[in-house]
Amino acid sequence: MNPRANSCWVRPLRGRIDVRCPFCDYEETKVLDSRPVEEGTVIRRRRECQRCSRRFTTYERVEMTPLMVIKRDGRREPFNRNKILQGLIRAAQKRPIPMEALEQIAFEVEREFRDRGEQEVTSLAIGEAVMERLRKLDEVAYVRFASVYRRFADADSVIEAIEELRARKRREEELRTQVLLPLGDDHNKA
Ligand SMILES: [Zn+2]
Repeated sequence: MNPRANSCWVRPLRGRIDVRCPFCDYEETKVLDSRPVEEGTVIRRRRECQRCSRRFTTYERVEMTPLMVIKRDGRREPFNRNKILQGLIRAAQKRPIPMEALEQIAFEVEREFRDRGEQEVTSLAIGEAVMERLRKLDEVAYVRFASVYRRFADADSVIEAIEELRARKRREEELRTQVLLPLGDDHNKA
């Protein structure tokens, strides 16, 4: 039960809000007054029913889809961008990487998974998304992050990660050359 008399919570649904009169269930209400409360995270609206003319108050709150992370051991915990950032900072130690670049990665990864609208994501998928971006930023930081993330047991697997990185760079380089060639002058003349 809502402790506030004559009030109810409404949940925004795809940008449109349907509010029925709590007294007569009529769908048309007139907004008399709107104002932000709770530091702007909630909008309080005073409404009047267009049929019975009774007044009531609604509180609108933006609802973030809760995002849970499934860890390796199967336990779940709420998604935490700061945790990603901490891992990035550790990997980037003594590297010439600006803090904003790391924050940007953490921000982008969070947005990527929240945009999908799924309620659960594996820590593995998050790690891969971080690595994908870190690889382009700094190779040393990438290998460090990968070694923690993939829990490398020995030096061989670190070397493996470096080899993997080099192979990927080669493939990307090849792909770039292939894409550029058909767009050259010779192609236009032909
Ligand atoms: Zn009414």
